[in-house]
Amino acid sequence: MDTTSLIGKELAAAINADTKQRAAALAETGAAPRLALVIPNDDPASAWYVKSLNRAAERNGIACENVDLGVDATAEEIRAKLTELSLDPSVDAIMLQTPLPKGVGLDDVSSAIASAKDVDGVSPLSLGLLAAGLPGFPPATAEAVVELAKFHEIPLAGRHVAVVGRSNVVGKPLLQLLLAENATVTIAHSRTIDLPAVTSAADVVVAAVGRAGLITADHVREGAVVIDVGTNEDENGNITGDVNADSVTGKASALSPVPGGVGPVTTALLMRHVVQAAESAR
Ligand code: NAP
Repeated sequence: MDTTSLIGKELAAAINADTKQRAAALAETGAAPRLALVIPNDDPASAWYVKSLNRAAERNGIACENVDLGVDATAEEIRAKLTELSLDPSVDAIMLQTPLPKGVGLDDVSSAIASAKDVDGVSPLSLGLLAAGLPGFPPATAEAVVELAKFHEIPLAGRHVAVVGRSNVVGKPLLQLLLAENATVTIAHSRTIDLPAVTSAADVVVAAVGRAGLITADHVREGAVVIDVGTNEDENGNITGDVNADSVTGKASALSPVPGGVGPVTTALLMRHVVQAAESAR
């Protein structure tokens, strides 16, 4: 069987073209949309991500400010900065970068981000709004999975989707977004018994685990669609997915590449959220 590549570039370009226009319109009537990145770490992967967000913001006409709190920031200091930015009318959007300092949990600080500015949907309020089907920003990575599937005309309504991973960042919000698309959803995780049997029952398998190559042909039924959210760094510094692409190719009908699948769509959606937040605030 031919395995189609669910490339994200074209969709990301279309989202960015719209975002850029809307950001320019906002800049004409006042100020460019403004995103604050709060950085409480000195992690190289986080630094790389911050740079890529800075570039994406610049390309889209969004002002982006890096607020470096240092690796020793306490939960109180992080909360105070997030509260200050939440109350600052010149800031439209806030993203908190991880990893957080030792001993600080995301739950200790994320509720200090105003939900109107929480463009990556990390606060408990944003997650609750999503679960209740109310307006708010969903985590961009979870949204990117659904948008990528829709763009490539993968049917979700009535289909059985198995999501491997149950984090607040990807798995759980993805469950809500897939339910909103009328999919029938199974969530698997590290305690799931017989993962290959669970995922092989699905029409669509989404891997959001953080284990390079975990999903093989044994986990996928003939003709299923596989979407790979994983970003794992190998010993040469290359990014690989949670899916063993060589193993799955020829059995799946479609597979999203890593890099180049979910990733670019995630960044584009984040920038779209910034513009949406600015439009709502003006
Ligand atoms: P996470 O918080 O570490 O969660 C991983 C999930 O995978 C957990 O629910 C865990 O189960 C489950 N799991 C671990 N080992 C497993 C196994 N052997 N079998 C089945 N399930 C297993 O990770 P995350 O933040 O959701 O991220 C997942 C992946 O997506 C990572 O590779 C991350 O880098 C990537 N990611 C990509 C983007 C993007 O823009 N492309 C954005 C965010 C994350 P338990 O709950 O039982 O521990």
